Amino acid sequence: MDDLNDLYQEIILSHNKRPRNEGELDPHSNEAEGYNPLCGDKLKIYVQQEGDKIEAVQFTGEGCAISRASASIMTESIKGLEGKAVYEKIAEVVELLTAKEEPTADPFELGELAALIGVRKFPPRVKCATLAWHTLLAALREKESVTTE
Ligand code: ZN
Repeated sequence: MDDLNDLYQEIILSHNKRPRNEGELDPHSNEAEGYNPLCGDKLKIYVQQEGDKIEAVQFTGEGCAISRASASIMTESIKGLEGKAVYEKIAEVVELLTAKEEPTADPFELGELAALIGVRKFPPRVKCATLAWHTLLAALREKESVTTE
C-alpha cells in the first residue's frame, strides 16, 4: 500500500509541476471561479461546449499542489465527454472524495483519478481536491462563482 501511496503522491506532484490544460481558454462558452477559503485555493475554469459536448476545458489559478493537480486531472478526464456523462463523472469523483465509506472502485479503472482518493486521509485537504469539480459544475450551470463550505 505504501508503494501505491508513493505513486499517488508522484502523480499529484507531476500534475502540479506540469499542469495539463492550464491557461485561459479562448473562445469559451462557460466559466466560473472557485474559492476554497480553508486553504486559499482560487481556480477559474473555462469550458468550451458544443451542443452538450465538452470540446475543451482549461483552468487558471493559484493554490496548493492538490488543488492544482485535481484541476489538471479534471480537465483530462472531462474533455470530450457529452451530456449526462459529464455530470456523472463529476458526481462520481465528488462521491469518491467525500463518501463516508472507503471507495471500492478499482484503482486501475480510475487511472489518475485514483491519486486524488489518497487525499481522503487528510480531511482538511478534501476541499482542495473537490474545488475544481465544484467549479466546473458552477461553470456548466452558469453560476459565476462557488465557494467551498
Ligand atoms: Zn488547497
